[in-house]
Amino acid sequence: MKPVIALVGRPNVGKSTLFNRLTRSRDALVADFPGLTRDRHYGTGRLGERPYLVVDTGGFEPVVKEGIVQRMAQQTQQAVAEADAVIFIVDAREGMTPQDSLIANYLRKTGRPLCLVVNKAEGMKHSTVVTDFYELGLGQPFAISSAHGEGVHDMVEHALELAYAERSAETEEDDAARGVKIAIVGRPNVGKSTLVNTLLGEERVIAFDMPGTTRDSIYIAFERQGRPYTLIDTAGLRRRGKVFEAVEKFSVVKTLQAIADANVVVLLLDACQDISEQDAHIAGFVIEQGRALVIGVNKWDGLEAYTRERFKAELTRKLQFLDFAKFHFISATKKTGIDPLVHSVDDAYAAAMAKLPTPKLTRTLIEAVEFQQPRRKGRVRPKLRYAHQGGQNPPVIIIHGNALDAITDTYRRYLERKFRETFMLTGTPLRVEFRSSH
Ligand code: GDP
Ligand code: GDP
Repeated sequence: MKPVIALVGRPNVGKSTLFNRLTRSRDALVADFPGLTRDRHYGTGRLGERPYLVVDTGGFEPVVKEGIVQRMAQQTQQAVAEADAVIFIVDAREGMTPQDSLIANYLRKTGRPLCLVVNKAEGMKHSTVVTDFYELGLGQPFAISSAHGEGVHDMVEHALELAYAERSAETEEDDAARGVKIAIVGRPNVGKSTLVNTLLGEERVIAFDMPGTTRDSIYIAFERQGRPYTLIDTAGLRRRGKVFEAVEKFSVVKTLQAIADANVVVLLLDACQDISEQDAHIAGFVIEQGRALVIGVNKWDGLEAYTRERFKAELTRKLQFLDFAKFHFISATKKTGIDPLVHSVDDAYAAAMAKLPTPKLTRTLIEAVEFQQPRRKGRVRPKLRYAHQGGQNPPVIIIHGNALDAITDTYRRYLERKFRETFMLTGTPLRVEFRSSH
């Protein structure tokens, strides 16, 4: 989900010019008519590899009159409400105006994260240009020139940081309320519906349908041992009365949607069948999406000892690449192994959402490098300096340094293992990325 940044300011301060620079588009109007009517423009900007959405608002006239001005104000209000962060633009050439103060007051009340930007500052001394605007009480202003590009990069970086912080705070609230989102996936007849009924039926269930974000999927909230969970009902599972039944054909699309939407995926295998290509494909997609994963080997009841051993050997051979995940041998019909499975779901979720503090990440990195240096490539030896967390579910660790293009895949996996051990990240894929400064 891209963060959304809204550009707000009175007419003629340079919103469209900034919009065009950020989105590199030519389609927004730029003209010297104050109060020019226009609709909101949406475009995609990019900072490095991170995309974000920019919304250019019409000229904002806080003194609401009728007609056009009022409509623009409404549009702006809506854009602000939808934004994760707001870039509030003022004009260095004109200095502070009463309208700027009115807009500032309005923006402060919305509680949106704000970045104050003094535009048209080319050829002016930045420290002098911004002094005027401190009195708006919106913190340190950024001096930029939209027309020439000066100062734009740093300003956007700051605005995006605000936006990301806002995003993760909001998602955390949502997630806490709804609990872990679980998708139970697997081939037809492995026992998905049986497991769902076992999960919902054993404990006090407060199952109800919630409108889903994915078309055609239903969310069922339930509690187990006092903890909230949300089950994503897909892959052909449908509720009929009080029980789940596989009433549709297996749907690859729904399986993929459910995985993308879940926090934790429970991949169900059938102990009575060989592990197939399709099982491996589904698992591969889970990793690609970075979702946390728990494997349930179902129908473990009534199996002969030698069949069990043969299946375990097959698991090691065919699903070796899932060694970060926990395996559980369960029976959905006999209700065995269910509690430990749910426990692993909790653990995998905790690992996926783990907060990885920069000092500890950096210490782990430095110790790993001291223990084993990356190889030289020609004359250069990559220099790894520090690490910080770049995301959750999956956890992303970003390593900064020099000549990091020369890091081999083997070395990346070595670092990944070290981070996994230190932070006990079982049950979740982990991404390690490199950012070279030169
Ligand atoms: P908007 O009404 O806020 O969208 O403002 P525009 O982007 O249409 O710009 C209004 C005027 O300011 C235009 O004439 C732009 O060329 C000019 N302008 C925009 N950015 C800059 C800048 O960084 N420096 C200077 N000198 N002029 C600028
Ligand atoms: P789905 O298509 O993945 O939803 O699979 P179902 O839940 O409909 O189960 C398919 C068949 O496997 C049904 O006949 C179930 O009774 C049977 N089944 C499900 N779980 C178990 C289990 O743990 N042990 C055994 N022996 N059979 C099971």
